[in-house]
Amino acid sequence: MRIILATSNIDKVREFNRILKDFDVDINPAPYSIKVTETGRDFIENAILKARAYYKEFRVPVLSDDSGLEVDVLGKAPGIFSARFSEDGNYKSNIERLLTQIKDMQEEKFKARFVCAVCLIDEKDIIHVTQETCEGYIIKELRGKSGFGYDPIFYYPEIGKTFGEASSEEKDQVSHRGKALRKLFSAILLGV
Ligand code: IMP
Repeated sequence: MRIILATSNIDKVREFNRILKDFDVDINPAPYSIKVTETGRDFIENAILKARAYYKEFRVPVLSDDSGLEVDVLGKAPGIFSARFSEDGNYKSNIERLLTQIKDMQEEKFKARFVCAVCLIDEKDIIHVTQETCEGYIIKELRGKSGFGYDPIFYYPEIGKTFGEASSEEKDQVSHRGKALRKLFSAILLGV
């Protein structure tokens, strides 16, 4: 199945193809990117908004995602605002803002999860959606240089590492994005 991703970010296209390597799908970058205002109340609404905008423009099957981090002691912030948590929105400033908010709390680690919603609009204009989470902890120091975003402070107990220390293959197996994408395409292509 040939699909475009609702982004022109080539790194995201590579990541999606890597996660979906066992499925008969070919994910391609969109010919150009479209500005989509993420006004949804949750990850699913935002993923649908992105997919709809790209489908309307290009009229071919479109895949989109919306993801973020929820930290329990912060009332699930930054949530859908994860990418724009700090003023400049870069990864380092986002982490700094988060660590500032928990620095006076006594705990060493804080229950948190990554969430990812993925949406596919197929060639018949039918919308398919899945959402998955990945449960772990935020720690107060940065560990590892892999990945992106909040990965260096997200500790995943089952592998005993932060996502910043994990290889991409290790992360794909357990990540919110890996699980949501495999669930979506297992349902669509394999009926399970
Ligand atoms: P999106 O591109 O609107 O889905 O924004 C997702 C934001 O959530 C990113 O910019 C990151 O800050 C954060 N995020 C989502 N998934 C991950 C992940 O796997 N690792 C680290 N940060 C993530």
